Amino acid sequence: EDGEDGSMSLPSPSNSASHSESRWGDTSSYTPRKIHQSWFKLPNGDWDLVNILSTTGTESVVSLTEGKVLKVKAENLISANPDILDGVDDLMQLSYLNEPSVLYDLEYRYNQDLIYTKAGPVLVAINPFKKVDLYGSDYIEAYKRKTAQSPHVYAITDTAIREMIRDEVNQSIVISGESGAGKTETAKIAMQYLAALGGGSGIEFEILKTNPILEAFGNAKTSRNDNSSRFGKLIEIHFSETGRITGANIQTFLLEKSRVVQCTEGERSYHIFYQLCSGAPPELKERLNLRRAEEYKYLSQSNCFSINRVNDAEEFRIVTEALNVVHISKEDQHSVFAMLAAVLWLGNVSFSVIDNENHVEVVEDEGLQTVAKLIECDIEELKLALSTRKMRVGNDSIVQKLTLPQAIDTRDALAKSIYACLFEWLVEQINKSLAVGKRRTGRSISILDIYGFESFDRNSLEQFCINYANERLQQHFNRHLFKLEQEEYIQDGIDWAKVDFDDNQDCLSLFEKKPLGLLSLLDEESTFPNATDMTFANKLKQHLRRSSSFRGERGKAFTVCHYAGEVTYDTTGFLEKNRDLLHLDSIQLLSSCSCHLPQAFASNMLTQSEKSIGGTSHKSGGAESQKLSVARKFKDQLFQLILRLENTTPHFIRCIKPNKLQSPGLYEQGLVLQQLKCCGVLEVVRISRAGFPTRMSHKKFSQRYGFLLQESLSSQDPLSVSVAILHQFNILPEMYQVGYTKLFFRTGQIGVLEDTRNRT
Ligand code: ATP
Ligand code: MG
Repeated sequence: EDGEDGSMSLPSPSNSASHSESRWGDTSSYTPRKIHQSWFKLPNGDWDLVNILSTTGTESVVSLTEGKVLKVKAENLISANPDILDGVDDLMQLSYLNEPSVLYDLEYRYNQDLIYTKAGPVLVAINPFKKVDLYGSDYIEAYKRKTAQSPHVYAITDTAIREMIRDEVNQSIVISGESGAGKTETAKIAMQYLAALGGGSGIEFEILKTNPILEAFGNAKTSRNDNSSRFGKLIEIHFSETGRITGANIQTFLLEKSRVVQCTEGERSYHIFYQLCSGAPPELKERLNLRRAEEYKYLSQSNCFSINRVNDAEEFRIVTEALNVVHISKEDQHSVFAMLAAVLWLGNVSFSVIDNENHVEVVEDEGLQTVAKLIECDIEELKLALSTRKMRVGNDSIVQKLTLPQAIDTRDALAKSIYACLFEWLVEQINKSLAVGKRRTGRSISILDIYGFESFDRNSLEQFCINYANERLQQHFNRHLFKLEQEEYIQDGIDWAKVDFDDNQDCLSLFEKKPLGLLSLLDEESTFPNATDMTFANKLKQHLRRSSSFRGERGKAFTVCHYAGEVTYDTTGFLEKNRDLLHLDSIQLLSSCSCHLPQAFASNMLTQSEKSIGGTSHKSGGAESQKLSVARKFKDQLFQLILRLENTTPHFIRCIKPNKLQSPGLYEQGLVLQQLKCCGVLEVVRISRAGFPTRMSHKKFSQRYGFLLQESLSSQDPLSVSVAILHQFNILPEMYQVGYTKLFFRTGQIGVLEDTRNRT
């Protein structure tokens, strides 16, 4: 919609803009006395820095970078910044805050491997997709001593530590961005800095070793990222009064468990499966009856077994070593590997149809036998659990044979449950090992690495939850940043009327309203045994059509207008995924195992179902275990998360993926722009346009422009000199504010002075 005319497309629609918006900041209505260079949008959507050769009324003749000369409408040109602002390390220093200027600044820096840039209080990190020389002990030392100044994860982490100690307030580092943007790497870089500054007790090594473990069990190769995290993570690192790390705690969110039984061509299941198959020592291989990854149905279906430049066998060694470091006993490790092998062998369990109603029996082959051996259960019970269902009818109990699709579902549900429980169990063990000593100081720094906004061709319950989380986090971001911005004005004593900003409350209410919000309606419909995805979709359309953030679509789909764009969700499978049921027969099977892990999983599931609300367990004949729905559990987790974050001073890092090929040196303007919009960076910029984004201390201002004064005031103090400059150049009073220490300017004002300065 930013047509060929090259008009501004910052998310501040000029039609809805208040008077102040167009009076103050809008570069399209503001024409500097002389434009030398401007931005012009090329037909391919990229911006070109053009030279203006002449301007006649409403038209200008410009020369493009590649030499061509064009006549264009003046309104299609957007002011470019003076050269001295090339590659500034904070976007707020730009005089003209428009899209092309922001994109250009980031690209200018990116091309010099300066992947970090500030956008006011926010750190923007652009994935280099190659090793850059910005890390390691020399850099850590430099940031610690404050001899290094340029924006960096180290710098923001350093600020967090200092503020934690100075203000005695917990801190958080909130990292967001889309898949492959570099969140997990960024989180690790922050952890390295924390470990280097707060280390000493040895616990920091344990903390760092949680990364290879969680990545092995929770990351996978996807089409967008070879090492994609399929869960969200919050790690809270605790410090003593003297700034030493005393322990840590990890919370995870919504692991994508469907990947265990199903994954698309070219992607992989969780790394740990391939690592185990290729890295297990012979003795372990034999004990688990392990084969090559190619021989397991769950792994072979996607036709992708290895990742470029990754040695799974070597990774397996690293993971076992890490498991040792976090005090997982050898015995437990063997049980963990046995569970993994059991999941793989479950996938190979097959069924034979025994009647013309498609009822099945389990084929008693190596797969079945191995599963029984690995989880240590009776093989007959395993067969029954996979091919029949006990139903309660009145006081009687009857056994029903399963059809082929039902049996496959049951088998896959069991595999997914075992894996998800294993993941949770591991996190629990890690937390025990990292547990903060009894002497809690209450000071901590939390790092949040959570999935960014997702919009695919087909969006399901996973995207629904993820985008809801992003909506909540965006609100937290907004509230915080705009509060901060305004606090700076007040601190410097300038005259300031509070600015309102578009918030996303409407969309959040669409999700959260009771009883007629998306989440409530989903949970309600999930409790009806006869409900279908279609009845669910119709219910949404019936109750939510008045919400401006909702739109019913044809068939089973609906659209939500998120702050980052519209997403159409397909309700197919929503209810089933939300119920996430494991049949009681399967749970009973797990509790009958001699191995302690499946037992623990089963008792965990039973406790959860006791906690579940509603007590609807009779409706489904008692054959299924009722528990908190996926959406409900996620919402509860999210509320806790936000509550925790609200009690911290947040620091935001927005990761940007410069191209979709995961390759270095390639900067695609359109892709970057879309992410800047999605993660709110342009929004921060937009809000600043309503305020006074350019700040300069009285001293710096008087030094830089003092020589332009007609009469010398060099003996005077910086404030008087500054005021004299402002008067001489007729800078309108509404264009600036004089603070106690700084001058605050509307966007574009410094550009005028720079132009004059350059011509003098
Ligand atoms: P997902 O949401 O899929 O988990 P992510 O945002 O966590 O994605 P990462 O896994 O952190 O993305 O990064 C993807 C890849 O990009 C990394 O495996 C690494 O190759 C590269 N990368 C990211 N950040 C850096 C960096 N600072 N230096 C070098 N390479 C990096
Ligand atoms: Mg990640």
